[in-house]
Amino acid sequence: MSILSWIEKDSQKSSQKSLEEGGLWTRCYQCGAVLYIKHLKENHHVCFACHSHLQMTSRERLHSLIDPGTWQPFDETLSSIDPLNFYDQKSYISRLKDAQNQTGLQDSVLTGTGLLDGIPIALGIMDFNFMGGSMGSVVGEKLTRLIEYATREGLMLIIVCASGGARMHEGILSLMQMAKISAALNVYQNTAHLMYIAVLTSPTTGGVTASFAMLGDLILAEPNALIGFAGRRVIEQTLQEKLPENFQTAEYLLEHGLLDLIISREFLKPALYEILSFYKDAPLKTRGRIPKKFFQSLNLLTEEKIRRQFNKKIPLNCPTNITTNTEKTIPDLNFSKNLFNKFNSMNWTANSVNWIANSQNLHEKKLATNEDISGKIQKNLSTNVNSQINLYVNEIFSQKHKKLSKFNKKIFQSFNQFYNF
Ligand SMILES: [Zn+2]
Ligand SMILES: [Zn+2]
Repeated sequence: MSILSWIEKDSQKSSQKSLEEGGLWTRCYQCGAVLYIKHLKENHHVCFACHSHLQMTSRERLHSLIDPGTWQPFDETLSSIDPLNFYDQKSYISRLKDAQNQTGLQDSVLTGTGLLDGIPIALGIMDFNFMGGSMGSVVGEKLTRLIEYATREGLMLIIVCASGGARMHEGILSLMQMAKISAALNVYQNTAHLMYIAVLTSPTTGGVTASFAMLGDLILAEPNALIGFAGRRVIEQTLQEKLPENFQTAEYLLEHGLLDLIISREFLKPALYEILSFYKDAPLKTRGRIPKKFFQSLNLLTEEKIRRQFNKKIPLNCPTNITTNTEKTIPDLNFSKNLFNKFNSMNWTANSVNWIANSQNLHEKKLATNEDISGKIQKNLSTNVNSQINLYVNEIFSQKHKKLSKFNKKIFQSFNQFYNF
């Protein structure tokens, strides 16, 4: 048995155990105190004995931060596909399904808008229970949409981070989310002059730390939270040095100037309220408001249909629906060459061009002969396929004929075939 599968088996056992205990009691991982779950929940999952801040789900956090009945979620049904066909002990898809069933979430972040003690905010909350809060393309996309929405509407933004880092199952697609989110934040902070507060909870590590967690205008953290980029052992082995005991704790980072404030969970909402209400009247920004209707997210069924369609059409592990030649050519060139050939092979001359000429009365405008038009098309195609086609099509169809003519249809059909719409 490999070590990994042994750990997995062990963790399954322990999770079964806590279920068997009926979910009434739990144990503090720090001091071992036995805690009554109902009371623990009322205390925001803070241990009564040692004041450790225990793990909280994103929904519980939501309830503790947002006024009841004011939450408007975004992109609830967004979930990932498996672009790499990733497989370790299980396939990525089945891991996703498991996590979705266990948590009732589609991915490891909740985004939306709501009121915090009456102040409208855009809020993102990560959930460590969903695959270690890892950031894949869905987390990246949801947060980016949230930030862009907040930018448009002039809302203040809070993101509660809890993550093991980028999701390795999606490879580079996970890593690029760091840049994507940071770019959106740059517009939000430096163009719209709006305020973003990052709240770091335990653990905040890896790609999340390396992007939006550390970009907050204000960075708050929970007491004793683990915050870092690489793990302790990795750093020790690399540097061949012993690291201080409290290394990568919130307190250590505060001491060294990486955080602005450490705040106990029960005071988080009041603290945020004070910061927000202080900032509310600051100049250089538009006032936050939340429109009633926005982002009608797709329902689960549609989402699933799109996913299946996508999986069927483009097996992403072989990057070409472009025909491949054995000669070494840049794929893009190949692509436009194919497009060009395809257009050439369409029956441009004779009937179709005649038909165009008739329907558009072009013959009266001395664009008459077949040769002229097909010659023009070919010349245009050879210079810049995409824009020239658009130009040509627009040129013809801007002349009063707004209905979809046969010609129009034909062009777009073949476009569809190429782009796999
Ligand atoms: Zn404790
Ligand atoms: Zn307390």
